[in-house]
Amino acid sequence: MKTLFGLTTLCSLFALVPASEASTGYPFYGDPPDATHPWAVHDWNRPQPPRVEPQPYDAVKAKAPTGAVVLFDGSAESLSANWEADQNGHEPTKWVMKDGAMECTPGSGYIRTKETFGDCQLHVEWSAPTKVQGESQGRGNSGVFLMGLVEIQVLDNYNNPTYADGFACSVYGVKPPLANALRPPGEFQSEDITFHRPIYQDGKCTQPGWVTVYCNGVLVQDRAQLEGGTGHMVRAKPGPMPETGPLKLQDHGNPVRYRNIWYRPLPSQAPAGGYNGPMTAEAAAVKRKEIAADIRAAAAKLANPEKPMAEFYRLAESLYYDKDQAILTKVEQTASQYVINLKLLSTEQLTAKKDEAKHLRDVLKYLARWQVIDADFSAKTGLDQIIKDQNWDKRN
Ligand code: MG
Repeated sequence: MKTLFGLTTLCSLFALVPASEASTGYPFYGDPPDATHPWAVHDWNRPQPPRVEPQPYDAVKAKAPTGAVVLFDGSAESLSANWEADQNGHEPTKWVMKDGAMECTPGSGYIRTKETFGDCQLHVEWSAPTKVQGESQGRGNSGVFLMGLVEIQVLDNYNNPTYADGFACSVYGVKPPLANALRPPGEFQSEDITFHRPIYQDGKCTQPGWVTVYCNGVLVQDRAQLEGGTGHMVRAKPGPMPETGPLKLQDHGNPVRYRNIWYRPLPSQAPAGGYNGPMTAEAAAVKRKEIAADIRAAAAKLANPEKPMAEFYRLAESLYYDKDQAILTKVEQTASQYVINLKLLSTEQLTAKKDEAKHLRDVLKYLARWQVIDADFSAKTGLDQIIKDQNWDKRN
């Protein structure tokens, strides 16, 4: 949220100092350093990102994969179907179509998607005006606002220093990009973003939010931790975010163009039932019960009193996801009966069962190792004895 006042103040004060002084720092502006942030917000003493030359644009790689939600395909229909003015009500945007791109009409306001979404892989392409005008934050400024709350800065920094945390592909006011991999103004920049909102439970952050950004194929944000929604001149304040929000693009007074915008929704982070590291014990227990229930449903379809072992193996497998006394009893009874039957066989019949019996032995050994069954379970020790007596473990 760059207020006109803030921008005007910055620009007018820069006009008062020589360029050499401006490049070494402009103090007394954003929130000052604090215990965990050694730089002020928008601190010119923070190093500029190093230059990295990107590869040329790759139209094939930039195409939406199957299953992606296309938010803008370069057509006027796509613009009107998916986007609206970011204001009360649902008014069409005043941004305009130009050569297969949508262009910000300065002064018309932000634009937002009609659809809302949360965690995602997002692809956006943008281009700063070919005609270079303005300096620092005044040159080709716009922004990609994830969920309408977190700005990934859009700015023409091709040959244009600015405060590092306001650089193109910065998490605005929070985290400068790792590199300046921009193409010249007028060319399209490809931005690929992975976004995870923070997870709060009972008012506590149990999993921070993260954002990863590739600019023209170059990694520029490497799982940067989100400290909350971004703002201008102020520290981001940690706090919960809604589950979804609209994607917004900023009108910062420059005719920046966008094209080829798509996203893939991503599962939420653990512990909200997602992935990425261990779940909480509660979430894992719920998931384990679900998996066990699926396996037991599959086992039920294999039930056959004449051939009980197919069902047996699936039921036994389900036990290490979820302990269940009735199923354990059934598994133990089936194993016990199998071993009793083995003992009734002739030597020849028994030999024909060698591989099957050894497989059951391995399964019982595994289950005992992980305390699903007791190590001295009688069917297990009985089977071990048969295999020993038959010398079946001997290598030929
Ligand atoms: Mg911006």
